[in-house]
Amino acid sequence: MRLLLVEDDRLLADSLKRGLERRGFAVDATGDGIEGEFLGSETAYDLIILDLGLPGRSGLEILRNWRAAGNRVPVIVLTARDSWHERVDGLRAGADDYLGKPFHEEELLARMQALVRRSHNIATPHLSCGGVQLDEERQRALLAGGEEVALTGTEFRLLRYLMLNPGKILSKTRLTEHVYEQEFDRDSNLIEVYIRRLREKLGHGRIETRRGQGYIFVAQADELD
Ligand code: CA
Repeated sequence: MRLLLVEDDRLLADSLKRGLERRGFAVDATGDGIEGEFLGSETAYDLIILDLGLPGRSGLEILRNWRAAGNRVPVIVLTARDSWHERVDGLRAGADDYLGKPFHEEELLARMQALVRRSHNIATPHLSCGGVQLDEERQRALLAGGEEVALTGTEFRLLRYLMLNPGKILSKTRLTEHVYEQEFDRDSNLIEVYIRRLREKLGHGRIETRRGQGYIFVAQADELD
């Protein structure tokens, strides 16, 4: 999943970015409001973490502009502790959730995972689809027979994105954007290599190739929206 972090407190932003990357998220970060609004408008993020007090343009103004333009990306706003009016303003401007500073990274993660599940209409606390359950804490896949499969960081990121979008054709370019950290890592041919590894680990029927279009994670009919 690709995230945008808009936070001007460098210490907090750096530590959050590192923590989220360790958890298998690709994170773009900026401390500037105008750049943050631009990135959030131009890139299809899975989730945005938005501070409210920012140089250049306030988080509230950014959020209102995104929503006015029809951008429905899930947004968690970071507010000052005990500032109830910031939370209210944030929710009214279109935030999906909020977190008061200081917070524990675990709480942010739990809220992010809940929000991503909700935005993909997933009602269960675990990501589960097509006979595979994903353990996001331990970055492992659990197969229907009870077998546990260890995943590398890239395999985990790729599988999570496929499982969040079952039954949809995902192009190599889109997968690359949502799996890799930096532009220079984005060699879309590598996706083929990782798809092959996932097939070896999970069984060959779960991920189908659509020639010239991309890949589909195969789900049962009742698992699709
Ligand atoms: Ca700030």
